[in-house]
Amino acid sequence: MSVLDIAQVGNPVLRTAASTVSREQLATDELQQFIDDMIDTMRAANGAGIAANQVHRPIRVAVAEVTSNPRYPYKPPLPLTVFVNPVLRPLDDEIVRINEGCLSVPDLRGDLYRFVNVEIRFWDRDGVEQVQTHRGLSAGTFQHECDHLVGRLFLDRVTDTTTLTTWDEFEQHHREAFLRRIAHLSADA
Ligand code: ZN
Repeated sequence: MSVLDIAQVGNPVLRTAASTVSREQLATDELQQFIDDMIDTMRAANGAGIAANQVHRPIRVAVAEVTSNPRYPYKPPLPLTVFVNPVLRPLDDEIVRINEGCLSVPDLRGDLYRFVNVEIRFWDRDGVEQVQTHRGLSAGTFQHECDHLVGRLFLDRVTDTTTLTTWDEFEQHHREAFLRRIAHLSADA
């Protein structure tokens, strides 16, 4: 197990569009080990996901997982998913204002709009094509990670900067209103 260094906002690698991974590259022991390291890094940091750019390697690989996450106790469970060369598209035009943080943006969260229903096509770590649909906060997680792969951070999508908050202030002043705002998403998921 190795936990990798996570690039922080300002590091140019976070603004780099990641390159496509070939099946040959994906099959190497080296890349499989890298994927394991990404999973370890995500779990060690209590992240809901991490993209390869965030560990200083701009290739189109990301991982996501939500079990019981102390960073995001309200997020619905999401089984460990390794997604390579993902292509994401919204399934309709329903959007929702959610609140996000990022392992590459220390102690800051903010409100932004995400599509509620998305389809994501990708290769799993064995190179097998997968198609999944996701809704609500899980859909938000996939949109967040796919943004990383094109060099975009959640900060870029925060249009109302008065919603920016530290994690502690979020807990104290904003969490309840946020949970009320997204309650309909889990109720009919
Ligand atoms: Zn992030």
